[in-house]
Amino acid sequence: MFEVMRSSGREPFAVARDETILTAVLRTGVLHTCRRVVRGTCRPTVAIEVGHTAELPRQIPARVVSIVQPTSEVAIVTLRPPLSEPFDYFPGQYIGTVGPDGLVRALSIANAPRIDGTIELHVGRVRGEPVANHIHKHLNVGDVIRIETPQGSNHLPSDESRPLIAIVGGTGYAPLQAMLEDWVARGVRKEVHLYWGNRLPSRFYAMRTAERLVSRLPKSTFVPVVSSGNIDDGWHGRRGLVHLAALADFADLRAAEVFVCGPPGLVAAAERDCLASGLCADRFYADVEEGKIGHERIGGEAETA
Ligand SMILES: Cc1cc2nc3c(=O)[nH]c(=O)nc-3n(C[C@H](O)[C@H](O)[C@H](O)COP(=O)(O)OP(=O)(O)OC[C@H]3O[C@@H](n4cnc5c(N)ncnc54)[C@H](O)[C@@H]3O)c2cc1C
Repeated sequence: MFEVMRSSGREPFAVARDETILTAVLRTGVLHTCRRVVRGTCRPTVAIEVGHTAELPRQIPARVVSIVQPTSEVAIVTLRPPLSEPFDYFPGQYIGTVGPDGLVRALSIANAPRIDGTIELHVGRVRGEPVANHIHKHLNVGDVIRIETPQGSNHLPSDESRPLIAIVGGTGYAPLQAMLEDWVARGVRKEVHLYWGNRLPSRFYAMRTAERLVSRLPKSTFVPVVSSGNIDDGWHGRRGLVHLAALADFADLRAAEVFVCGPPGLVAAAERDCLASGLCADRFYADVEEGKIGHERIGGEAETA
């Protein structure tokens, strides 16, 4: 094992013998910093020559194995990519799903790697979003669709020394489910506090699965939060914006790491407020797929922080 030092006193990361730096940064989750906006002239002092180029996503066929509709808003679709194609991924990554008109929608893989190679997708119904609408209205078991191989840096190090505050909105829960499954299966003893926000109580489409997975991790908690219900909706749990619920419980984030996935407004508000609560920028994990998200959910209205 070698240690790669990073600038500005950031934590070093480990690279195994014969491992590429690119593989190491993907494995450890360091790569998320690469999506940051440049705020001034960059003066690199060290250049690293990477020996292998990053693989571009390839389009491959995948067969629909099952479709389950736990709520009117979400379809859980299980796909089987061909076993002849390499299809390795880190829990937390997403695939592109190609619609009939060639448009691509990013969808997170919601399960840890399985022996049979199948992957689970949680597809939200989104107004004006053709790929999601096609999946909800026209996709059938046995169909073959085109997908892009896994991508994204939304992969967390399974560092057991820090508690993870996971803040997810709507189907942004999907990649977190993959990570939880992976840690439970590998016996990783990570402390996780999962805050899952939805507008209405009826939208928690995988409540029991989330509860079960979190209960298998030490000192971990699951807090569902409703943001737009009303007093008669039968909800007895927490209310408000999901990241504010997390910050009400964890006001000091200096020792924590935070993972966020969901609507762009949630990601932006959570990043701003978590950094203000002492979170180290290096330990804020979120993927933003420019141009592919931010569609208006059917029956939805804008949230304000
Ligand atoms: C890397 C990545 C992967 C994704 N994978 C998937 C996927 O697999 N499937 C899929 O359908 N979509 C996916 N998306 C899209 C994303 O999950 C959706 O934008 C999100 O799920 C919208 O869900 P919703 O309409 O139910 O959320 P909303 O109902 O709009 O919000 C859910 C909760 O988020 C909070 N929130 C919303 N807006 C704000 C705001 N402005 N400020 C503060 N808090 C806010 C609230 O607590 C609210 O209850 C992905 C996005 C990214 C970035």
